Amino acid sequence: MVTLPLFSQEEEAAAAEERDAGEEKLASIEERLLARDGPPRPRNFWDPLKELIFVLISARTRTEVSLAVLAELELRYAAALGNWTRLRDAPEQAVLTLLAPVTFSEKKAPALQAALRRITRQTGGALSLDFFAGQPVERIRRWLESFEGVGARGSAAVVNHSALRLRALAVDGHHHRIAQRLGFVGRSATAAETEQKLLSLLPEARWPPARLTAMHDLLKLHGQIRCTSNDWQRHCAACPLLPLCPTGTATVDNVETPE
Ligand code: SF4
Repeated sequence: MVTLPLFSQEEEAAAAEERDAGEEKLASIEERLLARDGPPRPRNFWDPLKELIFVLISARTRTEVSLAVLAELELRYAAALGNWTRLRDAPEQAVLTLLAPVTFSEKKAPALQAALRRITRQTGGALSLDFFAGQPVERIRRWLESFEGVGARGSAAVVNHSALRLRALAVDGHHHRIAQRLGFVGRSATAAETEQKLLSLLPEARWPPARLTAMHDLLKLHGQIRCTSNDWQRHCAACPLLPLCPTGTATVDNVETPE
């Protein structure tokens, strides 16, 4: 049987050219943000279960508030035994009280304990995500996203920001907005599609997990301090990415475009 090619040689060549141009643009973005803002703060790469707990409590909550609540949970329930079984088995009201500073605590507290119980059940008694070792990243993420409160951003954070150190980009509102403004994705793209698009432009050989984490942190800071969600507060005129950005160049006069 003859196998017909899905794409013509011209289409393959055009796609490769688009990928190369996209990677070059992203490398330039990385270089410009590093030059302006410096290297991202060093991270602690927690074990994946702790990262999952952070994901489950931190949606739509300021990072410093979520970190403080996580520290309190750890001190109260995990420090003595070195595991999270006491949090899993704690009275629901006690967990709810500790989670009060985060948004939607009345939903997050039961979802968190239900997740810990389910992990224990599915691992045959171990409250641990050690069984992730050696599993394909797509499989791990599919499983994580089957938990209430874990979407593409959360599953990416667990695999990329934890000690697992796997390839993923945890695309939040900042990354999504910046990718749209810089022309990587259209206005109708979802955050998950934005991650897929960006990863498709960042080949594993040159963009290992650690470099993706650093890129994540650089873009997030850029979104917090410069490329803000409010159009009227954007700092396009002083933005190091302006020459690469169709949105910025459409609103700022006399922009020098790169060679
Ligand atoms: S030029 Fe403006 S829109 Fe473009 S990345 Fe910079 S701040 Fe965002």
